[in-house]
Amino acid sequence: MNYQYWHPKMETLPRADLEAWQLARLKDTAAYALRTPFYKERLTRAGIREADDIKSLEDLKRIPFTTKHDLRDAFPYGMLSVPRDEVIRLHASSGTTGTPTTIYFNREDIRRWSGFVARCIYGTGCNKSDVFQNMITYGLFTGGLGFHAGGEEVGMLVIPSGAGNTTRQFKLMQDFGTTVVHATPSFLLHVESRMKEEGVSRDSLRLKRAFAGAEPYSEDTRRRIEELLGIDVYNSYGLSEMNGPGVAFECQAKNGLHLWEDGYIAEIIDPETLEPVPEGETGELVLTILCREATPILRYRTRDISGFSTGPCPCGRTHRRIRRITGRTDDMLIINGVNLFPSQIEEVIMGIKEAGNNYLIVVEKDGSLDRLTVKTEIGPDIFMDDSRPLNALREKIRKTLQASITINPKVELHEKGALPVSEGKAKRVQDNRPKEV
Ligand code: AMP
Ligand code: ZN
Repeated sequence: MNYQYWHPKMETLPRADLEAWQLARLKDTAAYALRTPFYKERLTRAGIREADDIKSLEDLKRIPFTTKHDLRDAFPYGMLSVPRDEVIRLHASSGTTGTPTTIYFNREDIRRWSGFVARCIYGTGCNKSDVFQNMITYGLFTGGLGFHAGGEEVGMLVIPSGAGNTTRQFKLMQDFGTTVVHATPSFLLHVESRMKEEGVSRDSLRLKRAFAGAEPYSEDTRRRIEELLGIDVYNSYGLSEMNGPGVAFECQAKNGLHLWEDGYIAEIIDPETLEPVPEGETGELVLTILCREATPILRYRTRDISGFSTGPCPCGRTHRRIRRITGRTDDMLIINGVNLFPSQIEEVIMGIKEAGNNYLIVVEKDGSLDRLTVKTEIGPDIFMDDSRPLNALREKIRKTLQASITINPKVELHEKGALPVSEGKAKRVQDNRPKEV
């Protein structure tokens, strides 16, 4: 295999040089962090009053973990470390209380981020002759604009098609000879089944590759998409707190995702003891960003479960690989690539006075897409045999939920006492999707 590197020197930097680079960048990042009230307090307590108090990478361990909770507490500007008028973009991801976590970028941050995404894309064999259809949500979600900028950086022709609307996606693919797509794995499977229904043949397309991420999927799912579409599928991992896409990506050897260590420091911890797990074992991924000035985040608990792959990669890159993410250590659900905490649903239901107290969240597969059903009991003033108020209530719950969680759920109403009441800790989520291992 002829492996191609976007940034040959950086991607193959010897470990010692890579670690020296990390230390220098960590100090820079800490200097920015110290400008925010949140980190000033945290770092000072950890004995880091200025960047030079960090003498080695080991010193990182003195810094406490940062959680999504911390980011939400700092909303909206508490984590901003540069003057407001230096910021040129923000992205956000939703959270348990509906308060988003917001990440700010200055011009240099956007430039670096695009460089990392370009590196991922180019490493799969793409170049400027490719036509890249970005079939993922544009907007506050980082997958749209993040991949868009990376694709342009590589010099590909980028089609900002956004997610959904398969008929239009096929038309664009055929009109412009799309060779690469980016989507969630569930949307790729959905595209394949729609191809059959709409009579679009594989031969009428010029697809060669897909980047699939934003949600966990198994090696079997990857293989299935590859076989059905006759393409190469590459796993793309990222999260908005760490910019978005461009954190870790598979190379053509497809044996784990290279985590770009000149942009991030990765640790794997035991989520119970918070201690590092032995090398190669599974745990929670903790990330420190080294490539962003406007919102530095140190030792972020991603809640994503993974582990380091062992041994060198045949591609020659020196950056460590993480294994495919298998799930999370918290209760966050990912529905067709959109993050959802059960508490967001609870908040909506409890805010509607005609709704009862008991509810159940059911997630299942509908074809290859995820389907969310919210079952709630009705309140004491509504009766099952009176269809008008019942329909109105169903529609009200559906609309309010959709506005709040950006997913359109099916809503089912049930008689008081009809939903199971669990003894002890309520079990409000039934995730009936096949387990991805
Ligand atoms: P967001 O901040 O909205 O971009 O969501 C980030 C989260 O999506 C991550 O923390 C993961 O839980 C999930 N995620 C993103 N990419 C992948 C992937 N390739 N495999 C598994 N989960 C992923
Ligand atoms: Zn590799």
